[in-house]
Amino acid sequence: MFKNLSAWQIIFRLLWIYTPFALFGYITGFFIEASFLYCFVIIFSHYWQLYKLTKWLWSARSIYPPRALGIWSNVFDGIYNQQRRNVKKRNELKALVRRFRLGAEALPDGVVIYDDHRHIFWCNKLAQEMLGLKWPADKGVRIDNLIRMPEFIKYLDKHEYLTPLEIASPSNENYIYEIRVVPFEKDKWTIIVRDITQLYKLEQMRKDFIANVSHELKTPLTVMRGYLEMTEDPEVLNNRMWQQAHNMMVEQTTRMDDLVSQLLSLSRMEKHVEETPKTRVDVPNILDIMLMEAKSLSSGKHKIVASFDQNVLLYGHEAELRSAFSNLVFNAIRYTPEGGTIDIQWSANHKGEAYFSVTDTGVGIDASHIPRLTERFYRVDEARTRQTGGAGLGLSIAKHALSNHGSSLKIRSKVNEGSCFSFTIPRQFVIRT
Ligand code: ADP
Repeated sequence: MFKNLSAWQIIFRLLWIYTPFALFGYITGFFIEASFLYCFVIIFSHYWQLYKLTKWLWSARSIYPPRALGIWSNVFDGIYNQQRRNVKKRNELKALVRRFRLGAEALPDGVVIYDDHRHIFWCNKLAQEMLGLKWPADKGVRIDNLIRMPEFIKYLDKHEYLTPLEIASPSNENYIYEIRVVPFEKDKWTIIVRDITQLYKLEQMRKDFIANVSHELKTPLTVMRGYLEMTEDPEVLNNRMWQQAHNMMVEQTTRMDDLVSQLLSLSRMEKHVEETPKTRVDVPNILDIMLMEAKSLSSGKHKIVASFDQNVLLYGHEAELRSAFSNLVFNAIRYTPEGGTIDIQWSANHKGEAYFSVTDTGVGIDASHIPRLTERFYRVDEARTRQTGGAGLGLSIAKHALSNHGSSLKIRSKVNEGSCFSFTIPRQFVIRT
């Protein structure tokens, strides 16, 4: 049906059609007229087919060709065949573009494609959300007219895209984005926008952590060095002052030792990602011992009220639980002035969960500090806590210890009225005897 005709085949067909005209002319003696008639018929039939072809190509909606005669059927079929191939290719191309778009939409990063003149060619939904672009309204608009941050424009102008740019989100300053520009095709560029807020915060925390540890260790070390330098003078060793210096050095060494132990236990707890621990912990016993320590720390300056349900035990990590309890109770004593009351409770609620609380009538904490209290090295009042000796790690340790037991710390406090630190341990950790 779709075969190609050779030149010889076409000549043969013309002669074949001409034969009856020639015979008729020869028999009737009107050979010339019959030949003209043949030419007329041939030209007319070609024009007729051309008319049908034009109509089909320009007006018809169907891709199927009209019926055609002779070699025209081959022309029609050839065009039809070509059109079918084109339609198939177009569909394949459409599917490819759709797949590409779906792929780009599924990316966890914002993607913007722009040309050499910085006109936006395409962007995915995430880029619209992250950069505040509107689609399709912003198609063709210059990207630097929409994101007008000077550092971004400077970055595009510099054309040095090996190092990514870190900027605050144009729509919300709390988010930090990393911008990368990569060539896309000859005159097109792609901007890849990634949300690095978490990474940025972690990096910031790491820097703060190093600064805090160095600061905390530097103070006692400076004190110790000062006293040690004094010992270069042999007179000093016999002096009464030496006793004072010695006491101070012991105090500072203990302080450093405490800090390092706290850091080590914090790092141990952070590594602990375990399902329900299976070790039985006699919490009332721990609390009884801790109560004695608390009384000795208070030296009778506070009224300490305690109520421990002796039948509520836990499955857990003993050392972690002990440090959570003691940090909360010792803080209550440290931050409650003389004459204040400290109430410690350990019980089980009607849901079978274990409940612990320490309520004090101490200095209290302003609401603005409460969300940050469990951050490492966070202290409300540097001057006051320096006197009490805390490095700001106690509540962070308590938070980690509790999270390893499926719990979290609740803090209620009012300045000059007092605070209540409490937590509830889920049923699966609780043993009732
Ligand atoms: P620190 O070792 O400095 O006590 P914590 O992490 O235990 O560190 O506590 C962080 C901060 O929370 C303390 O510096 C203190 O300001 C505040 N804080 C903790 N417990 C209490 C409390 N019971 N009453 C008032 N403030 C408290």
